[in-house]
Amino acid sequence: MVVTMEKIVSLCKRRGFIFPGSEIYGGLANTWDYGPYGIELQNNIKKIWWKNFVQDRQDMVGIDAGIFMNPKVWEASGHIQSFSDPLMDCKKCNERVRGDKLIEQWSLEAGQGRLPKHWAGEKTPSEDILEYVMNEKIVCPKCGELAWTKPRRFNLMFQTHQGVIEDEQSLVYLRPETAQGIFVNFKNVLQSSRKKIPFGIGQIGKAFRNEITPGNFIFRTREFEQMEIEYFVKLNDWKSLYDGWRQQMEYFYTDILHFHAEKMRWRQHSPEERAHYSDETWDVEYHFPFGWGELWGISYRTDFDLKNHSKLSGETLDYLDPETNERFVPHCIEPTFGVGRTVLAALLDSYDEDQAPSEKDGMESDARTVLRLHSSLAPVKVAILPLVKKLSDRARNIFCDLQKDMMVEFDESASIGKRYRRQDEIGTPFCVTIDFTTLEDATVTVRDRDSMKQERVNESMLRSFFSEKFRL
Ligand SMILES: [Zn+2]
Repeated sequence: MVVTMEKIVSLCKRRGFIFPGSEIYGGLANTWDYGPYGIELQNNIKKIWWKNFVQDRQDMVGIDAGIFMNPKVWEASGHIQSFSDPLMDCKKCNERVRGDKLIEQWSLEAGQGRLPKHWAGEKTPSEDILEYVMNEKIVCPKCGELAWTKPRRFNLMFQTHQGVIEDEQSLVYLRPETAQGIFVNFKNVLQSSRKKIPFGIGQIGKAFRNEITPGNFIFRTREFEQMEIEYFVKLNDWKSLYDGWRQQMEYFYTDILHFHAEKMRWRQHSPEERAHYSDETWDVEYHFPFGWGELWGISYRTDFDLKNHSKLSGETLDYLDPETNERFVPHCIEPTFGVGRTVLAALLDSYDEDQAPSEKDGMESDARTVLRLHSSLAPVKVAILPLVKKLSDRARNIFCDLQKDMMVEFDESASIGKRYRRQDEIGTPFCVTIDFTTLEDATVTVRDRDSMKQERVNESMLRSFFSEKFRL
């Protein structure tokens, strides 16, 4: 069985996980909306992340900073100066491309070893990009002409204006990363929480990047959500704590999310590839149908951000070590997790197709699609299915009882086989069927999603039965 993006996109639309944005108006490129089950899955991922990395730890606290920030923040962070892509226009057909991507794509097709010397991806100087394109005669992919303009730097930050007057004064950016909201609150958090270094601040929130080449469903979107940590350390401790964080990220995908380990790998960024603020970066990659792609990352940001904010704002953003009485600007380790990408990986990782007993043998048809999501991720934990409508009142009582503990769904429409199929496709771990035997002995059938095995459980025992099953 091969999981393709088409299968996932189709399942997401059909079952209400993810819809194309503004669809009734023909959509808006690269936008997606989460439906009833998608938002449950997404919330579960965020909840598990927050519990694991913030609430369960003595050395972590959380914040939620605003999307709009003083534009000086982006000056200090370096985003105004260096957060840009080199764009070129074709003078013949007006096609706009990223110069770095044009060369990389060409080199990929031409075979390895064709990248220019000192290649630095998007950071390669504009003159070098143009020279290389002209020397190698890399033509416009749309019209086949060789008529490029000089690459211009296009900043990836979305701009808008605050207030009603459109002038420089009111210019604000939609934040391109959540991290800066943490750095500018470093002093507030330190003073109010009385944490001692090493400690970290976690945050979940939206960020925006006006990328020219988004795509692959929800993998790369211009509006996206991050789960991010800035972990403040003493300079000399950074390496050991950094390696410790890498282990915790690994534990998170193996033991918390239960992703297939063979679909995950670490990849280190080359010095040219690293962001302007980073001294060491590793990605956690997932094996998507379109190839290996970044799922999460961890950067060592040094003291770059706090130092620059201190310089530009005039505030001291240092730390007084209570033991040594030494004052210093903390260094920072940044583990970062994409929400949308984790949702996509969870869907891909759990997608399966197998055979169910046919209608004649039992009550099910042949081929089925099933999301084998870990119960902590599943949008619905238990579905309550009365065999016939006559049994609905009895079933509804069970539904109301279980609803106190978990996300439960009640479904009395269509044949029982069809209702099983539907729950399998949204990843519901258990279905409870109320039948005529229930009226005699107060037992119900509990069906396991993965094994499809059924057992009879007394209805008064259901809450404890499931709380045992779902214990993390
Ligand atoms: Zn062209």
